[in-house]
Amino acid sequence: AKKNGRNAIEYYQESMQAYTTRRMVIESGLRTAIQNNEFELYYQPKIDLETGRLTGVEALIRWHHPTLGLVSPGEFISVAEETGLIVPLSTWTLREACVQNKRWHDKGYYTMKVGVNISSIDFARESFVEAVLETLRENDICPSSVELEITESVAIQNVDDVIEKLQTLKDIGVHISIDDFGSGYSSFSYLKKLPINTLKIDRSFIIGLSTSVKEQAIVRAIITLAKSLDLSVIAEGVELPEQVDILKQEKCDAVQGYYYSRPLPVQEFEQWYEQTYQS
Ligand code: C2E
Ligand code: CA
Ligand code: CA
Ligand code: CA
Repeated sequence: AKKNGRNAIEYYQESMQAYTTRRMVIESGLRTAIQNNEFELYYQPKIDLETGRLTGVEALIRWHHPTLGLVSPGEFISVAEETGLIVPLSTWTLREACVQNKRWHDKGYYTMKVGVNISSIDFARESFVEAVLETLRENDICPSSVELEITESVAIQNVDDVIEKLQTLKDIGVHISIDDFGSGYSSFSYLKKLPINTLKIDRSFIIGLSTSVKEQAIVRAIITLAKSLDLSVIAEGVELPEQVDILKQEKCDAVQGYYYSRPLPVQEFEQWYEQTYQS
C-alpha cells in the first residue's frame, strides 16, 4: 500500500507538472499567436426555421499551435481572459469575421449577420464600445451586419454601465444576443432593462428536448418569454430532427447546430453554402 501511495503521489505530481507546463506553453504562445497568424475562424450557419434560409453565421475561433496542434477555445479563452490577451484577440476576431462577411456579401451571398463572441472581460472595459466602433469604421463595416454574443455574466457588473454600452451599440444598429441563455445567473429584472435583440437558448436545454418534458417546458417558457419581450430567439446545439420538429412547433425563430452543419473553415463553409442554396 505504501508503494502504491508513493506511486499515486508521483503520478499526481507528474500530471500536475504536465498541466502547468501546458498552461505555460499556452500562455506564452498566446502572446505571439496573432502576429504568427495561428488563429483561424470557423463559421457555423444559423438557419431561419420558417423559411430555411441562412440568417447568419457564428464565428468560432480555432488555434493552430506550432507544437500543441489544434487547441480548443474552451482551453485557451480562459487563459486569454486571465492574462488580458483577450483584448487584442477579440479585436482580431471582430475584424476578421466582419471582413469575411463583407467578402461573402460581395460574392452575392444572402445578406447575413456575423456573430462574434465577446468575453465579459472585453465588455467591462471602459473603451469597449469605442473600440468596436473603431474596428467597424476602419474596415468600412455596416453595423447591422454584426452581432455580438455576450453571456448573462456581463450583467453582473454595474447594470447602468452595461445598459449604456448596449444602448449605444444597439442605436447604431449592432445586434446584441444573450448567449447560453438560462445556463447562468438569469434575472428577469435585468432582462427587462437590457437593450438586446436575441436570446440564444443554451445547448443544455436542447440536448434532452426530444425525450424530456422538463426540457420541453423550459424551452417553451424561454420562447414565450422572448416573444413577450419582443426579442428573437435561437436554439443552439441542435443535432436531431426530433429537436428541429419541437422547435418548429414551439415557433422558435432560428436554429444552429450539427444537424445543419458543424463550424467550418471558410472554404468548406462556402461549399456547404453553395450546395445548400445554389443547387
Ligand atoms: P459558444 O459560444 O456557446 O459556442 C458554441 C459551441 O458549441 C462551439 O464550441 C460549437 O462548435 C459547439 N457546437 C455547435 N453546434 C453544436 C452541436 O450541435 N452539438 C455540440 N455538441 N456542440 C455544438 P467551440 O467552437 O469549441 O467553442 C466553445 C466556446 O468557446 C464558445 O461557446 C465560446 O464561449 C468560446 N469561443 C469560441 N470562439 C470564441 C471567440 O472568438 N471569442 C471568445 N471570447 N470566445 C470564443
Ligand atoms: Ca456563442
Ligand atoms: Ca452558446
Ligand atoms: Ca457555451
